[in-house]
Amino acid sequence: MALTGIQIFKLLPKTNCGDCKYPTCLAFAMALAAGKAELDACPHVTHDAREQLSDASAPPIRQLTIGTGDYEVKIGGETVLFRHEKTFFNKPGIAILIEDTMDENEIERRFSTLSLYQYERIGMTLRPEIVALKNKGDAGKFINLVQMACKHPYSIILISDNPSIMKEALHISKEKKPLIYGAKKENYEEFGRLAKEYQCPLTVRGMGIEEASWITEKLTAMGIKDMVIDTSSRSIKDAFHENIIIRRAALLNKIKPLGFPTISFPCNMTDDLMKETLIASLLIAKYAGIIVLSDFQGESIFPLLLQRLNIYTDPQRPMTTQEGIYPINNPDDRSPVLVTCNFSLTYFIVSGEIENSRVPSWLCVMDTEGLSVMTAWAAGKFVGDLVGAFIKKCGIVDKISHRKVIIPGYAATILGDMEEELPGWEILVGPREAAHIPAYLRMWKN
Ligand code: SF4
Repeated sequence: MALTGIQIFKLLPKTNCGDCKYPTCLAFAMALAAGKAELDACPHVTHDAREQLSDASAPPIRQLTIGTGDYEVKIGGETVLFRHEKTFFNKPGIAILIEDTMDENEIERRFSTLSLYQYERIGMTLRPEIVALKNKGDAGKFINLVQMACKHPYSIILISDNPSIMKEALHISKEKKPLIYGAKKENYEEFGRLAKEYQCPLTVRGMGIEEASWITEKLTAMGIKDMVIDTSSRSIKDAFHENIIIRRAALLNKIKPLGFPTISFPCNMTDDLMKETLIASLLIAKYAGIIVLSDFQGESIFPLLLQRLNIYTDPQRPMTTQEGIYPINNPDDRSPVLVTCNFSLTYFIVSGEIENSRVPSWLCVMDTEGLSVMTAWAAGKFVGDLVGAFIKKCGIVDKISHRKVIIPGYAATILGDMEEELPGWEILVGPREAAHIPAYLRMWKN
């Protein structure tokens, strides 16, 4: 049972020191009870109090990890219903279904799609992470499939109704911390024992929310903490509806047996890949912790990865690129120098267009706290004296033999101040639109 603000307050040091950034211990206690603060923000809590408070300070949806290494997937840990209230923390894992009844070529192809569909975007790699291995045929084929999966770096979901086959699969794959699927009303004890023995997260498969919550309670009593909920809904309407009910119950009503991430199976909701993609897109927005798809195509997986990236970024913090000098197309001391802000989108559009031009160039990226050129200029963070000072100190002068710098066309008004800040330099006004950069650079003469 979650503690109230007053109960939490009684366990705090009551010194009102303010180190937690709240004016008083009471204010901090209230924020903790409302899920708006983290217990770690107070460095003075005693060990005993911390133990008692950990329940109150844990996120209402349990955070858990599937897999290990590069493809490890963290899910759950969410604290808000709507992204704009704070942020969503852990993006849903995307899995491809591989069944042991598929022929060898098809199995190979499905494993390879995970490495095939990887995209670089704003300095990040977007990719699906999980293979969901389903036991439909005999045990031998399933075990072969698990052995194959262990040779790949991807995270694994093991799907089997048979506890002894699951045990064998876990024995092989335990180092990869797979997600076990799934504990039903009639076999939850056997699956619970496997989850404990192999220290792996466990999916609970109930026929509806009520049954799922009954099973999570039973498993919690067995000491199982890391669980994922499947309510067995295999229609878009039910999956959407139940994901929302579970999230609201956990966050607003603090119903502990529903405080776990969910898994959804768009692969079982339609035979049409495009419809499946649309369903998955809805479930990314509405709270799925893991989404299992029947297959990936470039045109289906890329929009999902992009949507997931956009929803699971902090809305209060613009994405930024590190300040510095970026060489593009192998520049030398006579190459042009362009300067821009560190809003990720601006950087990637500008650097992409410079790359397209094939003109060797230096791109100087200035820290504008993630603001775009116009916004940064309006906020006084991309003005002539600051940009000039940045050009002087960033080190570009050691890399070039000329003294020319190209500023963005939208920031043409900073030209005068830059000339004052950089005597002896020629300040050139570049194009307003990034799309015109290639044509502009091709005219560069030095
Ligand atoms: S840091 Fe801890 S002791 Fe200090 S005001 Fe915050 S809650 Fe109280």
